[in-house]
Order: sequence, then structure tokens, then C-alpha cells
Amino acid sequence: MNIRLYNARILTLANGFEIERGEVHVKGSLISYVGEEKENRENWDREINCMDNLLMPGFKNAHTHSGMTFLRSFADDMPLLDWLHQQVFPMEAKLNADDIYHLSKLAIMEYLTSGITANFDMYLTPDTIAQASVDCGFRTVMTSGLNDFTQSVELMDEWYRKYNRYHELISFQIGFHAEYTTSRELLEGVADLAGKYQAPVYTHNSESLSEVEGCMERNHMTPTAYLNQFGMFRYGGGGYHCVHMTEEDLQIFQEHGMSVITNPGSNAKLASGTAPIKRILDLGINLAIGTDGPASNNCLDMFREMFLTTGLAKLRENDASVVDANQVLYAATVGGAKAMGLKDCDTLEEGKLADLILIDLNQPNMQPINNITKNIVYSGSKQNIKLTMVNGKVLYEDGEFHIGVEAQEVYDKVRQITESKK
Ligand SMILES: [Zn+2]
Repeated sequence: MNIRLYNARILTLANGFEIERGEVHVKGSLISYVGEEKENRENWDREINCMDNLLMPGFKNAHTHSGMTFLRSFADDMPLLDWLHQQVFPMEAKLNADDIYHLSKLAIMEYLTSGITANFDMYLTPDTIAQASVDCGFRTVMTSGLNDFTQSVELMDEWYRKYNRYHELISFQIGFHAEYTTSRELLEGVADLAGKYQAPVYTHNSESLSEVEGCMERNHMTPTAYLNQFGMFRYGGGGYHCVHMTEEDLQIFQEHGMSVITNPGSNAKLASGTAPIKRILDLGINLAIGTDGPASNNCLDMFREMFLTTGLAKLRENDASVVDANQVLYAATVGGAKAMGLKDCDTLEEGKLADLILIDLNQPNMQPINNITKNIVYSGSKQNIKLTMVNGKVLYEDGEFHIGVEAQEVYDKVRQITESKK
């Protein structure tokens, strides 16, 4: 479809944070024009009057476990390790691939309502996760959650080859669950695989203090230093959470061009601590933002994560001037794309993929318009997402989903799955 979005304010994020009035043209999956209003001579399949609202790149949810939607509000208010071992792992063991297909669709719907146009998903069954995304028209970067109990290096190798040529909406990155769940032998295998494909590696890293202390006891090193000695990050990669990081850890991230993917909602709810966001940004380390899974957050909402990213950093540093709104907005979009290896959907520019959102400014929480980017980070919410487009297709608009299935059908299916596991 060829779509013209006109009468818009546009934040391209290609050169800073300037907002200009104009229009965006989408042809097929690509942006074909971004600029001033021009005389309309073409035949469009659809013309959308943006009513002076804001077009910008979609948010990138750089760490999540989409299939965990069935555990939302199931086992809350527990310590992290009890929650993981007593509730999450036993319940997950009951899931089959078809369950994860439907559970992932529910998460995708929630992403769309929050202006998220791509997710970085660590979960169990890549075949049905990929299928759910393709069927909805959503963009997903999958990563493996290898550990001592599930998956293998051989399987990861197979998935890496298969899912990087599977569909234009799907890609795959090498990943394992965490240092504390993965044996030395497996970690060496992961590092070898990263070498084979010259690929980055992603994992949960230094999420809780007990995780870091455990690693120090076992290996006399922090998780980052321990993993680095295997050559794990020769080709970059990233860490989810990165709450309890030493200066040496951050230097390893800096040296290897790695990304920190912060998950402030999950860290707050599980009392894991606050990540050193100011220091991360000062060192020029790429920052991305993730919601983490719906069992530990419990919502998949980039607005809440953006507010917490800056709010918790200000609280941690006892300084209201640190980590400003533009830095956060950048992390939620361009930083996320970079962390996920998505090169073509980070900004609004001619030739880039049309992954964009329309933010409704004509709502009480966006008025008056003193500063739009500050409004988005400090005052914005899901209610401001008027339209979410992925790969040139409108998947969500004015509260309605266009994902090839009725919303109620997904809710019913997920309820059925959840009931059957209890
Ligand atoms: Zn996680």
C-alpha cells in the first residue's frame, strides 16, 4: 500500500531532536519521502490527515519475554529468586509451542498500543514466536535463552541460520539466559558460536546483587569480567538489566561497543536496584530500554519505562539534572534499534523501513505544547498512541487492531491456556 501521512509534526531523530512540520510518504514497506508539504499529484491508497500530531520512529522494546503474558499478575510480591524458581520455571515447563504462539500475540497487541514497533524476545519456541509476529505483521528479533536446563549450542547454531533468512520481519541473535544458569562448558560453546558467525552475544547481566555475589564466589570475578574472558563479546552484544556494574564492567562494555539494555520497571518491582544510567551515558555506551517480561513488570509499556529510566537515575544520583528526556527518547528508539541489530528502522528517513507512530497531542496530558519530547517522556502514556505502523502497514489505529485476528479471540485463547496450566 502507498500511504501519505500529511499535516504532521515530524521528529525524524535523524539529526537531533528538531521537530518540523511536513509529511511522510510510505510506499510498500519503505519511507519514500520525509519533508515539507508538497503538491499532491500521486494516487494514494490512503491519505491520513495527522491533524498536527507528531510522527516519530516507533519504540523498540529491547528486552522482553513475550510468552510470559500468561504469568501476568500470577505470582507477584515475592523475592526474585523465589519467584523465578518456585513460580516461573515450573509454570513455564507446562507450556507448549502452540500456547506460546497465542501468548506472544497478546504481547504484540500490547506493544502496538504502546507505540512499540519491534521487540527483542528471549523465549522458548522460536518457530511459534516467529509465526505469531509474521501473522500479526510485527517485527521481532529473537534471541535464545540457552541454559543448563533448556536448549543447546547446536540448536542455537541451527536457529541462527534458519531465522536470519526466515522472513523480512524476523531476525535472530545469539543469547543465553545468564551466567548463574549456564555452565562453563556451554558458555565456551556460545563464545565459539559467536566467533563462527562474528556475531554479538546477549544475556541477563548483573540484574541482582545476589547474582553478582554468587558469581564472585564461584569465579572470583563479576559476571561481565567472567563472561568476557571466554571471548564472549569479541563482536559486541549486550546485557539486560546491568544494575550492579563495576567501573571495570562498564569499560568492557565500552571497549566492545556493547549495549546496556535497561529494564527499570522490572528492577523496581523485583527490588533489584537502579542501574547506573548516568555513568553508562557518560561513557558513551549505547543505551536501550526494555520492558522485561509481563510476569516481572507487569505491563509492556514503553512510556512507563521511559519515565522510570530518567526518574530512577535522578533518584540514584540525587540530581534532577541527569539523564534528560531526549537521551531517554533516543534510547527508546535509535538506541534500541542499535542494540537489536536493526539498521533500517531507527529513524524517519527516505529509504528506511516504515516503522513509525503517530502521537496524539490533542489530549490533556500533552497540553500545552511547551516541549513535545519532554511531554512524551514525562507526561506521555499509551493513550497518546493514535497509530502504530510496522513495515508500512497500520497495525493499530484509534484503539483498533489490524493484525488478522479479533482482539477478543486472542483474549479468550490466552484465558483458556492460562486456566489449563493452573
Ligand atoms: Zn529478562
